[in-house]
Formats: sequence, C-alpha cells, structure tokens
Amino acid sequence: MVSTRNIALNIFFDTDYTILGVDGSLRPHVEQLFQYIIDRNHRIYVWSGNGIRTKDMEKHNLTDFITNFYEKPVHDYWNNTSKLPEKDRPNMVIDDNLEIVAILGGIWVNQYYFPNKNDAEMLKVQEIIVEVESSGSSDDPRFRKLKFI
Ligand SMILES: [Mg+2]
Repeated sequence: MVSTRNIALNIFFDTDYTILGVDGSLRPHVEQLFQYIIDRNHRIYVWSGNGIRTKDMEKHNLTDFITNFYEKPVHDYWNNTSKLPEKDRPNMVIDDNLEIVAILGGIWVNQYYFPNKNDAEMLKVQEIIVEVESSGSSDDPRFRKLKFI
C-alpha cells in the first residue's frame, strides 16, 4: 500500500447535496473540514454539474480555502476529467453520486438534502482522509480507491 503522507492531494468537492442542501445552506462541519485539508497542505477544488459555483462559496465565506472552481462532467467522467490540466486533476473526489466516486476515486457521502444540524458526514470524511494520509487507503465503505495518484 502506498502511503500518501507526503503527497499534496487535490481534493474535489461536489456542491449540491454534498456540501450544500437543497435550500443552499451549508452542511455542518464543512468549514472545519476545509480548514483541516488546508492545514495538511492539500488543495480544495469545488466543482458542480450545475456550473461554476463561485457565488455559493462566497456566500458561505469559503472562497479563501478554494484553489479553483470547475464545471463537473455529468457523463464520461474519466475521459472528461483527464482533459483538466495535469496539476488540477482530482486525486480524491467527495460526492453524493457513487458512480463518479467509483470511477475517479475518493469518498462517497450520504446525500445532504434538508438542513440538519446533527449531520456528521463531513467529520466522517475527515476521519477517512486521516486514514488515507497514513495508509493510502481506508476500510470505510464510503471509500473508493484513488486513481489519479
Ligand atoms: Mg451532488
């Protein structure tokens, strides 16, 4: 197993129902997770199949954490993602859509739809990232093997 301890990961977050609810509210613990990721010298990207979401991230004061925004492919995930500049390809995607996570590697999350202050999924994501940093993998059922490494 390859350790990712010293690798700066490009971590791509889906937007709708991954970090934002249906009403545009921010999922609990997103800011804490973003802070952790930045402190570990990884890079955060936000993408969406629904356009470039700069305004939504501004609204929640998250812009400073984010390296770049992209439009997420809605089909042919591997080929379309391979067209991104090499330095900007996702090492890990976080998404409520299992298919894209299985293809690109990363962490599948429960869909966040209605606001719920007790939602702890982002804390789980943080735990899995900690595991992946030390061992290159995770036994959590949400985790799918990383591909762009
Ligand atoms: Mg989504």
